[in-house]
Amino acid sequence: MQDLQYHAFQVRETRDGKYAGSVETLDTASLPPGEVTIRVHYSSLNYKDALSATGNKGVTRSYPHTPGIDAAGIVMASESEAIKVGDAVIVTSFDLGMNTAGGFGQYIRVPADWVVPLPMGLTLEESMILGTAGFTAAMCLEKITAQVAPEQGPVLVTGATGGVASLACAMLIKLGYEVAGVSGKPDPAFLAGLGVSQVIPRDEFLADSAPPMLKAQWAGVVDTVGGEILTTAIKSARPWAAVTCCGLVASPTLSLTVFPFILRGLSLYGIDSQHYPSVPRRALWERLAGEWKPPALEEMVTRIRLADLDHAVSEILAGRLKGRTLVDLR
Ligand code: NDP
Repeated sequence: MQDLQYHAFQVRETRDGKYAGSVETLDTASLPPGEVTIRVHYSSLNYKDALSATGNKGVTRSYPHTPGIDAAGIVMASESEAIKVGDAVIVTSFDLGMNTAGGFGQYIRVPADWVVPLPMGLTLEESMILGTAGFTAAMCLEKITAQVAPEQGPVLVTGATGGVASLACAMLIKLGYEVAGVSGKPDPAFLAGLGVSQVIPRDEFLADSAPPMLKAQWAGVVDTVGGEILTTAIKSARPWAAVTCCGLVASPTLSLTVFPFILRGLSLYGIDSQHYPSVPRRALWERLAGEWKPPALEEMVTRIRLADLDHAVSEILAGRLKGRTLVDLR
C-alpha cells in the first residue's frame, strides 16, 4: 500500500506538563509495524480512551499518541493468509489505542491476531456501538448466565447509564433477566427506556450500607464502578450469586469481610477484556451479533466526529455521558 495522509485525533504533552488533543494530518508511514493495515470507518469512546487522552501513564506511556481502543473498518493491506484486502473487520483490546496508535485515526496497522472478521448480523457501525463496552458486557454475561437463571432473581448493574453498563442492561433484559440499575443521574427515563425495572439513586444505594452483610437481593451483579458501590453490591448479593467486576470509575478499592463469600457462597469474577484470547474472542463476537445483540442500539448512541472528541473526553470523565458515543471517521 502506498503511503497516504490521514486525519487523527492526536494527543500531545504540552510545555506545562498537561495534555491536549486535536485533529492532525498524519502519514501512514508513521504507523507502527504490523501485518494488517485498516481504513477505520468507526471507533467509539470508552472511559479508557479518556484516560489515554489526558495523560494517564498507566494507560499510555509516551506521547504524541492517537488513542482509541476500538476500531472497525476495511482491510487495505494484509500480510496474513487469513485476512484479505477488502475484508470488513473489528479490532478492539490488546494494545490498540494504549501504546499502539488507535482507532481515533483513519488508519491503523496491527498484528493479524488482533483482527476479528465482522460477524454476520452486525454492520461496521453497530460493531462500534458495541465496541469494547459491548464485549466487556458480554464477558460479564458469560459468567452470570452460566451461574444463575432469570428466575433466580434480579441482576444489579452499577454505573447503569454508562457504556458497558447500559449495554449489559439491554442484553440481560433481552435474555429475560430482571435488571435493577444504580445511577447517579437524576433522570431515569433512559434506563426505563431500556427496560430496567428499578433505578436506584446512587446515594440511596449507599445509605445504611455499613454492616458486613445486607439484605440478600441480587442474583447477579455487573459492576463498572468499584469502591463502596461494589462493596455494597457484594454485601447485598443473594446466596450463590455471580458478581462481575470490570471497572473503577468510582474507586479501585474494595473493603470487605469474607462473610458474603463464606455465608452466601457467592462468586466474584474479575473481567479483563484486554487479554481475552483471540479464538474465543471471535466466538463471543458471534454471540454479540446474534442471540445477545441488544435490540435498541440506536437508542443508546450519540454520534460524533474526530473534532468533537476533545469535548466528549471531558464529558465522559465527568460521568455526564449516557450510553455509547460512536466516532464516525469516514
Ligand atoms: P462510562 O463513563 O461510559 O460509564 C461509567 C458510568 O459510571 C457513568 O456513566 C456513571 O453512570 C457512573 N459513574 C461515573 N462516575 C462515577 C462515580 N464517581 N461514582 C459512581 N459511579 C460513577 O465508562 P465505560 O462504560 O467505558 O467504562 C466503565 C468502567 O469499566 C471503567 O472503569 C472502564 O475502565 C472499565 N472497563 C473495563 C474493562 C475491562 O476489561 N475490565 C473494559 C471496558 C471498560 P451513572 O451516572 O448512571 O451512575
